[in-house]
Amino acid sequence: MSESFETESSNSKELNFLSNVSIGLTQHSDPADIIESLSESFRGMINLENLNIYIYDENTQTLRDYAKSWIVIDEIHDKEYTEKLYQVVKTSKYDDFLINDNSINIKDFWNINKYISARKNTILFPLMKGETPYGLIELIINLAISDVLTIDFFKALIISAYQISLKIQNKVLADKMQANIDFHESMKNIAKIIETQYDLNYIIPLIGEMIDKFISDHLIYIFLKQDGEFKLVWPLACRDTKILEMVNNMSADTSYTLTEDNKIGIFPLVAADSSILGGIVAHSHVDKLSQREIDYLDQLTKQSSITIQRANMYAEVLQHATLDALTGLNNRRQFEVRLKQAVATAKRQGHPLCAIMLDIDFFKKVNDSYGHAVGDEVLKNVAEIIKTQVRESDIPSRYGGEEFAILLPYTKLEEAGSVAQRLRAAVEAKHVDLTHVKDAKISEIQVTISVGVYQYKEGDEPQQLYTKADKALYFAKEHGRNKVIINRG
Ligand code: GH3
Ligand code: MG
Ligand code: MG
Repeated sequence: MSESFETESSNSKELNFLSNVSIGLTQHSDPADIIESLSESFRGMINLENLNIYIYDENTQTLRDYAKSWIVIDEIHDKEYTEKLYQVVKTSKYDDFLINDNSINIKDFWNINKYISARKNTILFPLMKGETPYGLIELIINLAISDVLTIDFFKALIISAYQISLKIQNKVLADKMQANIDFHESMKNIAKIIETQYDLNYIIPLIGEMIDKFISDHLIYIFLKQDGEFKLVWPLACRDTKILEMVNNMSADTSYTLTEDNKIGIFPLVAADSSILGGIVAHSHVDKLSQREIDYLDQLTKQSSITIQRANMYAEVLQHATLDALTGLNNRRQFEVRLKQAVATAKRQGHPLCAIMLDIDFFKKVNDSYGHAVGDEVLKNVAEIIKTQVRESDIPSRYGGEEFAILLPYTKLEEAGSVAQRLRAAVEAKHVDLTHVKDAKISEIQVTISVGVYQYKEGDEPQQLYTKADKALYFAKEHGRNKVIINRG
């Protein structure tokens, strides 16, 4: 009678344990939380000192601590014990486990008592994916006087090990899938940048940070060829002479080069004409680059090559450009050139010269309320009005974002003042059509401008023509906007 009572009581202990394991596994997804809840479940049954789960990482061929930031176990344990753990994942057969160095098959566990020590017991239980082990559970159990490692305990342990194994397999798979999703998200971002951004100072740090996100165990460096030499452009410093040497020997013929230990990878950035633009370097002191990381880096490098090539081309075109791309008016650089010429001619020939500065009122609100596409459409329309209102000899330009400057040679102040008024009235009257603007929330919009006018005086520097017209413009802004102010000073 008393015997059967004992069995029942110990059975319910095991059942309790199994149910706690299940609940813990469904409730938690963070590795550290999973280990914590499993440890608690075990402690309800035995005097557990420690529970760890190690997973074999095929890419780097190392065993990793599942809960402690994926650390390589070689760094936690001494050499002998490390070897033993590797042995378990490499040689375990289905239903084998190790107790205090003795290999046991589950079928023989009734024989287990002879291997159990009175004090500290180490049980290494492989986690299997089909026939192959992919990790192990390590249990360190201290036998208290009242504890006995019963057959029922081992039965429960075996069942729980399958459950744990399944959970971890799912989790590892989900993490891998998440990494893929992140990767594709990142590729999409890079593609977006390709379409919209041309400034390398803006693009390079973005690319660097994106790559860093995937290849987190490696340091990333980006080099660009400038004036015939490879220069580090991201991050700020690289003191590794081996990397510098490898970068200098980079060739456009190979898609990447790895060091023998797979710890440094050099991925050349190659232009469409096969010339070399630079290179992306991944470097680690600990981890080898996995095949997946190599594939990612290869793809990211190819994508980045296109971005960088486009930016280089754009910068080159910009150096020779005289017109603003959005409005077709003279750009600021050209304005400065024409301003000097106009002032010199006016001085030499003694004819009058005026400048008009104008700025769209509350333009930021247009962008903020309706988006930049609507803002751009407004800019194009204002530019059109300027083009149609000025004479052939006048020099209109887009001076800045929503600021325009017009030089009017052979024009006196009063005349320039009426041109300015005409412009102001034409902009005010214009209904800017937005029906063809994608995603515009409105079909048309009206804006106003503020305008400043100034006439060149003997002794003025070219720049003063601009600053004095701008001063009048500022005054117009201060005094209600949608106004023309003439600076006679
Ligand atoms: P104010 O009446 O005082 O001039 O106010 P504002 O909002 O027009 O002036 P502010 O200088 O604060 O804003 C100018 C805005 O113009 C900010 C900037 O985002 C926008 N902008 C500059 N360049 C462009 C461009 O090329 N396209 C578009 N859509 N917006 C631009
Ligand atoms: Mg403005
Ligand atoms: Mg402005």
